[in-house]
Amino acid sequence: MSSISLRRVAHAWRVQRRALCGTARYYGTGPSGLEARGEDTASLKTLKVHTLSRTYFSGIQPTGVPHLGNYLGALRNWVKLQREAAPHDTLYFSIVGWHALTLPQDRKVLLGAQTDMMALLLAIGLDPKRSIIFHQSQNPNHLELAWYLNCITPVGKLRRMTTWKGRLADSRNANDESEVDDSLLNTGLFTYPVLQAADILLYKATHVPVGEDQQQHIELCRDLAEIFNRQLEADNKTFRATFPLPAPVYTPSKRILSLRDPTSKMSKSSPIEQSRILLTDSPEEIKAKIRRAVTDSVQGITYDPVNRPGTSNLLTILAACENTEPEQVADLYSGKDHGHLKSDVIDAVVEMLRRPREEYERLIQARTYLTEVAQDGLWKAKLQSEQVMRTVRERLGMLATP
Ligand code: ATP
Ligand code: MG
Repeated sequence: MSSISLRRVAHAWRVQRRALCGTARYYGTGPSGLEARGEDTASLKTLKVHTLSRTYFSGIQPTGVPHLGNYLGALRNWVKLQREAAPHDTLYFSIVGWHALTLPQDRKVLLGAQTDMMALLLAIGLDPKRSIIFHQSQNPNHLELAWYLNCITPVGKLRRMTTWKGRLADSRNANDESEVDDSLLNTGLFTYPVLQAADILLYKATHVPVGEDQQQHIELCRDLAEIFNRQLEADNKTFRATFPLPAPVYTPSKRILSLRDPTSKMSKSSPIEQSRILLTDSPEEIKAKIRRAVTDSVQGITYDPVNRPGTSNLLTILAACENTEPEQVADLYSGKDHGHLKSDVIDAVVEMLRRPREEYERLIQARTYLTEVAQDGLWKAKLQSEQVMRTVRERLGMLATP
């Protein structure tokens, strides 16, 4: 598509979105987009309502079938945000293939995992008519912005990011993070938080629903947005903030632990399959994994994440399934044993994942539909990101693309 027709389509789409804004009222949890940008909302009464809109961005790596931790810590929240978002809010959910390459991948497995992930995102309830669902690796703007951000990222800040250690340790099945050092670290893995910042800023996201393991990265993203804005403003006072400072949105169950080693988080990249419950697991598989989950030999059930991480993890899972707090669940089980608790966790998880699993089995057969959804999402993502990139290139003094 030429840039002129791309611009026309972008304009048409913006007009359409504005028409949708109408009399919509802002609602939802956490700060609005403007609050997230640190702007004064008290004086906004005279502004049109759609200026309060939020933009959500989140991603998941196609490094395997999503697990219970992904679901409770992030994916389920995506669906909730989609349901509760105001009509003028925009939601982007991306399958971030370039991040997957920071660890070695098998080509065929990676290809299949990307399609599986699209089917799973739809199966849990993401609606392509409401949310923009796309493959990050099909939009080169992510890489271009990542490069610009790399050029302003202090290496010291990246060195303080510890997530690469966890990822390497999980993928190598190391006993703990002290067993991995930077002799195993490739540059992609070292700088992937910068790519993640680009993913978010490329859409001027104001809110990022993620699990707790991403906290450091969101902080880095905010720092980079600030550095970028400041540098450009110092250059030219008319350049108001290029990027908003995005806020993380966490769920109550922001960290679900491995069933085999409750000192580390449940992870797609761990080679131990028994450590995670997949969204595609059958009831029998779920039962077997939870029955064998590591707990402790203390009598009775209490919620004590520090001293009883395995038991507390089961309580967190049950509480999340029942939309309540782990402490409250613990009170109900105080006189019971682990066998009892595990039985109820099994029932709750099987029930919660029944529908996503059935939907996945139906959707994975509908290959043409999955391709259409991906193409449509990519088209919208490119339109929006191209506008942002035009401004960024112009402000940086890069030649505009023809
Ligand atoms: P990998 O091991 O390949 O990094 P992962 O299981 O960590 O995979 P990601 O694709 O990196 O999954 O993360 C997708 C989303 O799921 C992120 O928002 C992340 O914060 C969240 N998440 C990942 N693991 C957990 C967990 N154990 N508990 C809660 N949220 C999680
Ligand atoms: Mg991860």
